Amino acid sequence: MPTTPLFGPYGSSALPFIDRFAAHGANAFWFHGFDAPALDACARYDIVACVEFKTFRADFDAYPELIPIGVDGRPIRYGKLVQGVCLSQTDFLAETEATLLDGLHTCQPAGIWLDYLTYAGWFETPAPDLQESCFCSACIADFCSATGIDAATPAQILAVAGDAWTRHKCERIARFAEHYAALIKAHLPDCIVGAYMCPWTPDEYDGALSRIFAQDYDLLAPSIDVFTPLIYAAKSGRTATWGRDFLAQAPAFAPVNRKMQLILDVLDFPDSLFATAEAELPSWGVQLFGGAQVFGDTQQAALFATAAAQIRQRRVS
Ligand SMILES: [Zn+2]
Repeated sequence: MPTTPLFGPYGSSALPFIDRFAAHGANAFWFHGFDAPALDACARYDIVACVEFKTFRADFDAYPELIPIGVDGRPIRYGKLVQGVCLSQTDFLAETEATLLDGLHTCQPAGIWLDYLTYAGWFETPAPDLQESCFCSACIADFCSATGIDAATPAQILAVAGDAWTRHKCERIARFAEHYAALIKAHLPDCIVGAYMCPWTPDEYDGALSRIFAQDYDLLAPSIDVFTPLIYAAKSGRTATWGRDFLAQAPAFAPVNRKMQLILDVLDFPDSLFATAEAELPSWGVQLFGGAQVFGDTQQAALFATAAAQIRQRRVS
Protein backbone atom coordinates (compact mmCIF):
# COMPACT_ATOMS: atom_id res chain seq x y z
CA MET A 1 0.00 0.00 0.00
CA PRO A 2 1.17 3.57 -0.58
CA THR A 3 3.15 5.11 2.24
CA THR A 4 2.25 8.65 1.24
CA PRO A 5 -0.69 10.10 3.17
CA LEU A 6 -3.75 10.50 0.97
CA PHE A 7 -5.65 13.78 0.60
CA GLY A 8 -8.66 14.45 -1.57
CA PRO A 9 -12.39 14.78 -1.97
CA TYR A 10 -15.04 12.16 -1.38
CA GLY A 11 -17.89 12.03 -3.87
CA SER A 12 -18.15 11.51 -7.60
CA SER A 13 -19.47 15.04 -8.08
CA ALA A 14 -15.83 16.17 -7.77
CA LEU A 15 -14.90 14.16 -10.87
CA PRO A 16 -15.18 17.14 -13.30
CA PHE A 17 -12.40 18.85 -11.33
CA ILE A 18 -9.96 15.95 -11.18
CA ASP A 19 -7.56 17.72 -13.56
CA ARG A 20 -6.89 20.28 -10.82
CA PHE A 21 -6.64 17.95 -7.82
CA ALA A 22 -2.83 17.74 -7.94
CA ALA A 23 -2.42 21.50 -8.19
CA HIS A 24 -4.55 21.88 -5.07
CA GLY A 25 -2.83 19.44 -2.78
CA ALA A 26 -4.97 16.37 -3.53
CA ASN A 27 -3.43 13.05 -4.55
CA ALA A 28 -6.45 10.78 -4.01
CA PHE A 29 -10.13 10.51 -4.80
CA TRP A 30 -12.81 8.55 -2.95
CA PHE A 31 -16.06 7.64 -4.67
CA HIS A 32 -18.97 5.27 -4.19
CA GLY A 33 -18.65 1.80 -5.67
CA PHE A 34 -16.49 0.49 -8.49
CA ASP A 35 -17.17 3.54 -10.62
CA ALA A 36 -15.48 2.99 -14.00
CA PRO A 37 -15.34 6.64 -15.16
CA ALA A 38 -13.85 7.69 -11.82
CA LEU A 39 -11.30 4.85 -11.92
CA ASP A 40 -10.34 5.75 -15.49
CA ALA A 41 -9.95 9.44 -14.66
CA CYS A 42 -7.77 8.60 -11.66
CA ALA A 43 -5.49 6.54 -13.91
CA ARG A 44 -5.30 9.37 -16.44
CA TYR A 45 -4.44 12.05 -13.88
CA ASP A 46 -2.26 9.89 -11.62
CA ILE A 47 -4.65 10.16 -8.69
CA VAL A 48 -4.96 7.34 -6.14
CA ALA A 49 -8.39 5.75 -6.73
CA CYS A 50 -10.33 4.72 -3.64
CA VAL A 51 -13.68 2.96 -3.63
CA GLU A 52 -16.22 3.39 -0.87
CA PHE A 53 -17.91 0.01 -0.58
CA LYS A 54 -21.34 -0.27 1.03
CA THR A 55 -21.57 -3.25 3.34
CA PHE A 56 -24.46 -3.18 5.83
CA ARG A 57 -26.90 -0.60 4.62
CA ALA A 58 -30.21 -1.13 2.88
CA ASP A 59 -33.51 0.51 2.12
CA PHE A 60 -35.56 -0.71 5.09
CA ASP A 61 -38.83 0.40 3.50
CA ALA A 62 -38.14 -1.87 0.52
CA TYR A 63 -36.56 -4.71 2.54
CA PRO A 64 -38.21 -4.72 5.98
CA GLU A 65 -36.81 -8.19 6.73
CA LEU A 66 -33.38 -6.57 7.09
CA ILE A 67 -34.48 -4.28 9.94
CA PRO A 68 -32.81 -5.42 13.15
CA ILE A 69 -35.01 -6.34 16.09
CA GLY A 70 -34.84 -4.22 19.24
CA VAL A 71 -35.17 -5.10 22.93
CA ASP A 72 -38.95 -4.97 22.73
CA GLY A 73 -38.96 -7.68 20.09
CA ARG A 74 -40.04 -5.26 17.40
CA PRO A 75 -38.10 -3.74 14.47
CA ILE A 76 -35.94 -0.84 15.64
CA ARG A 77 -36.88 2.79 15.06
CA TYR A 78 -34.93 4.28 12.19
CA GLY A 79 -34.39 7.45 10.22
CA LYS A 80 -33.05 8.03 6.74
CA LEU A 81 -29.38 7.80 7.77
CA VAL A 82 -29.68 4.44 9.51
CA GLN A 83 -26.98 1.90 8.80
CA GLY A 84 -26.60 -1.72 9.89
CA VAL A 85 -28.84 -4.69 9.12
CA CYS A 86 -29.78 -7.96 10.77
CA LEU A 87 -26.67 -10.04 10.15
CA SER A 88 -28.62 -13.29 10.00
CA GLN A 89 -30.04 -12.27 6.60
CA THR A 90 -27.91 -14.55 4.48
CA ASP A 91 -29.33 -13.54 1.08
CA PHE A 92 -28.39 -9.93 1.73
CA LEU A 93 -24.90 -10.95 2.86
CA ALA A 94 -24.42 -13.11 -0.25
CA GLU A 95 -25.47 -10.22 -2.46
CA THR A 96 -23.05 -7.84 -0.70
CA GLU A 97 -20.20 -10.29 -1.18
CA ALA A 98 -21.12 -10.86 -4.84
CA THR A 99 -21.04 -7.11 -5.47
CA LEU A 100 -17.59 -6.89 -3.89
CA LEU A 101 -16.28 -9.82 -5.94
CA ASP A 102 -17.72 -8.36 -9.14
CA GLY A 103 -15.77 -5.19 -8.53
CA LEU A 104 -12.60 -7.04 -7.63
CA HIS A 105 -12.82 -9.06 -10.85
CA THR A 106 -13.09 -6.01 -13.06
CA CYS A 107 -11.34 -3.09 -11.31
CA GLN A 108 -8.05 -2.35 -9.61
CA PRO A 109 -8.63 0.49 -7.15
CA ALA A 110 -5.71 1.42 -4.91
CA GLY A 111 -7.96 1.43 -1.88
CA ILE A 112 -11.32 0.10 -0.75
CA TRP A 113 -13.00 1.67 2.28
CA LEU A 114 -15.64 -0.55 3.88
CA ASP A 115 -18.64 1.57 4.81
CA TYR A 116 -21.46 0.88 7.28
CA LEU A 117 -19.50 -2.00 8.79
CA THR A 118 -21.54 -1.77 11.98
CA TYR A 119 -24.59 -2.88 13.88
CA ALA A 120 -27.60 -0.63 13.49
CA GLY A 121 -27.92 3.02 14.32
CA TRP A 122 -26.96 6.45 13.09
CA PHE A 123 -24.55 8.95 14.55
CA GLU A 124 -24.54 12.05 12.33
CA THR A 125 -26.79 13.89 14.73
CA PRO A 126 -26.45 15.74 18.05
CA ALA A 127 -29.10 13.52 19.64
CA PRO A 128 -28.55 9.91 18.52
CA ASP A 129 -31.34 7.40 19.07
CA LEU A 130 -29.28 4.49 20.37
CA GLN A 131 -30.95 1.10 20.43
CA GLU A 132 -29.58 -2.32 21.24
CA SER A 133 -30.08 -4.86 18.42
CA CYS A 134 -30.45 -7.43 16.84
CA PHE A 135 -32.63 -9.70 18.95
CA CYS A 136 -34.24 -11.71 16.18
CA SER A 137 -34.38 -15.42 16.99
CA ALA A 138 -31.51 -16.22 14.60
CA CYS A 139 -29.19 -13.57 16.07
CA ILE A 140 -30.01 -14.69 19.62
CA ALA A 141 -29.35 -18.32 18.65
CA ASP A 142 -26.02 -17.27 17.11
CA PHE A 143 -25.07 -15.52 20.35
CA CYS A 144 -26.02 -18.51 22.51
CA SER A 145 -24.13 -21.01 20.37
CA ALA A 146 -21.04 -18.79 20.07
CA THR A 147 -20.81 -18.04 23.79
CA GLY A 148 -22.42 -21.07 25.42
CA ILE A 149 -24.67 -18.65 27.31
CA ASP A 150 -28.25 -19.80 27.70
CA ALA A 151 -30.43 -16.70 27.43
CA ALA A 152 -33.61 -16.55 25.46
CA THR A 153 -34.86 -12.99 25.69
CA PRO A 154 -33.33 -9.54 25.11
CA ALA A 155 -34.00 -8.64 28.76
CA GLN A 156 -32.18 -11.75 30.00
CA ILE A 157 -29.24 -11.17 27.68
CA LEU A 158 -28.78 -7.56 28.72
CA ALA A 159 -29.32 -8.34 32.40
CA VAL A 160 -26.95 -11.28 32.77
CA ALA A 161 -24.63 -11.14 29.76
CA GLY A 162 -24.43 -7.54 28.55
CA ASP A 163 -20.65 -7.53 28.18
CA ALA A 164 -20.64 -10.88 26.38
CA TRP A 165 -23.39 -9.61 24.05
CA THR A 166 -21.35 -6.53 23.15
CA ARG A 167 -18.21 -8.61 22.67
CA HIS A 168 -20.08 -11.09 20.48
CA LYS A 169 -21.40 -8.31 18.26
CA CYS A 170 -17.93 -6.76 17.91
CA GLU A 171 -16.45 -10.14 17.02
CA ARG A 172 -19.17 -10.70 14.43
CA ILE A 173 -18.40 -7.35 12.76
CA ALA A 174 -14.65 -8.03 12.97
CA ARG A 175 -15.14 -11.40 11.26
CA PHE A 176 -16.88 -9.70 8.35
CA ALA A 177 -14.01 -7.20 8.18
CA GLU A 178 -11.56 -10.11 8.10
CA HIS A 179 -13.53 -11.88 5.38
CA TYR A 180 -13.91 -8.84 3.14
CA ALA A 181 -10.27 -7.83 3.65
CA ALA A 182 -9.14 -11.35 2.71
CA LEU A 183 -11.19 -11.22 -0.49
CA ILE A 184 -9.74 -7.82 -1.35
CA LYS A 185 -6.13 -8.81 -0.64
CA ALA A 186 -6.53 -12.10 -2.55
CA HIS A 187 -7.41 -10.14 -5.69
CA LEU A 188 -5.41 -6.97 -5.05
CA PRO A 189 -2.57 -7.69 -2.61
CA ASP A 190 -1.46 -4.06 -2.41
CA CYS A 191 -4.92 -2.58 -2.01
CA ILE A 192 -5.48 -0.43 1.06
CA VAL A 193 -8.37 -1.66 3.17
CA GLY A 194 -10.03 1.20 5.02
CA ALA A 195 -13.06 1.35 7.28
CA TYR A 196 -15.36 4.24 7.99
CA MET A 197 -15.88 4.49 11.71
CA CYS A 198 -18.43 5.85 14.12
CA PRO A 199 -16.51 8.96 15.26
CA TRP A 200 -16.98 8.47 18.99
CA THR A 201 -14.31 7.52 21.47
CA PRO A 202 -14.92 4.19 23.23
CA ASP A 203 -16.27 5.97 26.32
CA GLU A 204 -18.75 8.33 24.72
CA TYR A 205 -22.48 7.61 24.95
CA ASP A 206 -21.90 4.87 27.50
CA GLY A 207 -19.67 2.85 25.22
CA ALA A 208 -21.93 3.09 22.16
CA LEU A 209 -19.02 2.62 19.74
CA SER A 210 -18.91 -1.04 20.76
CA ARG A 211 -22.24 -1.48 22.59
CA ILE A 212 -24.40 -0.16 19.74
CA PHE A 213 -22.24 -0.03 16.60
CA ALA A 214 -20.03 -3.05 17.43
CA GLN A 215 -16.84 -1.40 16.21
CA ASP A 216 -13.81 -2.42 18.26
CA TYR A 217 -10.52 -0.95 17.04
CA ASP A 218 -8.40 -3.78 18.38
CA LEU A 219 -10.57 -6.51 16.87
CA LEU A 220 -10.69 -4.70 13.52
CA ALA A 221 -6.99 -3.85 13.40
CA PRO A 222 -5.76 -7.13 11.84
CA SER A 223 -7.98 -6.47 8.80
CA ILE A 224 -8.08 -2.69 8.50
CA ASP A 225 -5.12 -0.60 7.32
CA VAL A 226 -6.74 2.83 7.67
CA PHE A 227 -9.46 3.88 10.10
CA THR A 228 -11.61 6.79 8.94
CA PRO A 229 -13.96 8.31 11.55
CA LEU A 230 -16.71 10.52 10.14
CA ILE A 231 -15.99 13.90 11.68
CA TYR A 232 -19.09 15.79 10.53
CA ALA A 233 -19.04 18.54 13.13
CA ALA A 234 -22.04 20.75 12.35
CA LYS A 235 -24.28 17.76 11.64
CA SER A 236 -23.22 16.21 14.94
CA GLY A 237 -23.56 19.40 17.00
CA ARG A 238 -19.80 19.60 17.60
CA THR A 239 -17.28 22.38 17.09
CA ALA A 240 -14.73 22.74 14.31
CA THR A 241 -11.96 21.43 16.60
CA TRP A 242 -13.60 18.02 16.96
CA GLY A 243 -11.23 16.33 14.52
CA ARG A 244 -8.15 17.78 16.20
CA ASP A 245 -9.47 16.72 19.61
CA PHE A 246 -10.28 13.23 18.32
CA LEU A 247 -6.73 12.82 17.00
CA ALA A 248 -5.36 13.88 20.39
CA GLN A 249 -7.38 11.17 22.11
CA ALA A 250 -6.89 8.44 19.52
CA PRO A 251 -3.59 7.04 20.85
CA ALA A 252 -5.48 5.88 23.95
CA PHE A 253 -7.67 3.50 21.97
CA ALA A 254 -6.51 3.19 18.35
CA PRO A 255 -3.93 0.55 17.37
CA VAL A 256 -0.50 2.19 17.00
CA ASN A 257 0.40 0.27 13.87
CA ARG A 258 -2.66 1.40 11.92
CA LYS A 259 -3.37 4.69 10.17
CA MET A 260 -5.97 7.17 11.38
CA GLN A 261 -7.41 9.30 8.60
CA LEU A 262 -10.32 11.66 9.19
CA ILE A 263 -13.10 12.35 6.77
CA LEU A 264 -14.29 15.92 7.25
CA ASP A 265 -17.55 17.42 6.03
CA VAL A 266 -17.48 20.24 3.51
CA LEU A 267 -20.11 21.98 5.67
CA ASP A 268 -17.34 22.49 8.25
CA PHE A 269 -14.78 23.69 5.69
CA PRO A 270 -12.29 25.23 6.06
CA ASP A 271 -12.30 25.66 9.86
CA SER A 272 -12.29 21.96 10.74
CA LEU A 273 -9.55 21.24 8.21
CA PHE A 274 -7.30 23.98 9.59
CA ALA A 275 -8.01 22.78 13.14
CA THR A 276 -7.11 19.24 12.05
CA ALA A 277 -3.85 20.61 10.64
CA GLU A 278 -2.91 21.68 14.19
CA ALA A 279 -3.05 18.13 15.53
CA GLU A 280 0.24 17.02 17.03
CA LEU A 281 -0.23 13.48 15.75
CA PRO A 282 -1.47 14.29 12.26
CA SER A 283 -4.24 12.61 10.35
CA TRP A 284 -2.90 10.27 7.62
CA GLY A 285 -4.20 12.62 4.95
CA VAL A 286 -7.82 13.74 4.84
CA GLN A 287 -10.98 12.94 2.94
CA LEU A 288 -13.31 15.86 2.32
CA PHE A 289 -16.92 14.75 2.08
CA GLY A 290 -18.74 16.77 -0.55
CA GLY A 291 -15.43 18.23 -1.67
CA ALA A 292 -16.66 19.02 -5.17
CA GLN A 293 -17.63 22.55 -4.24
CA VAL A 294 -14.15 23.15 -2.83
CA PHE A 295 -12.28 21.81 -5.84
CA GLY A 296 -14.64 23.65 -8.17
CA ASP A 297 -13.64 26.99 -6.64
CA THR A 298 -10.04 28.13 -7.02
CA GLN A 299 -9.96 30.12 -3.78
CA GLN A 300 -11.49 27.32 -1.71
CA ALA A 301 -9.19 24.78 -3.33
CA ALA A 302 -6.20 26.95 -2.41
CA LEU A 303 -7.30 26.72 1.24
CA PHE A 304 -7.39 22.93 0.94
CA ALA A 305 -3.89 22.97 -0.53
CA THR A 306 -2.60 25.16 2.32
CA ALA A 307 -4.05 22.97 5.06
CA ALA A 308 -2.90 19.76 3.34
CA ALA A 309 0.62 21.19 3.13
CA GLN A 310 0.52 21.97 6.86
CA ILE A 311 -0.50 18.39 7.66
CA ARG A 312 2.21 16.98 5.38
CA GLN A 313 4.74 19.26 7.07
CA ARG A 314 3.74 17.97 10.51
CA ARG A 315 4.31 14.41 9.34
CA VAL A 316 7.90 15.11 8.39
CA SER A 317 8.80 17.49 11.22
ZN1 LIG B 1 -31.04 -10.54 13.55
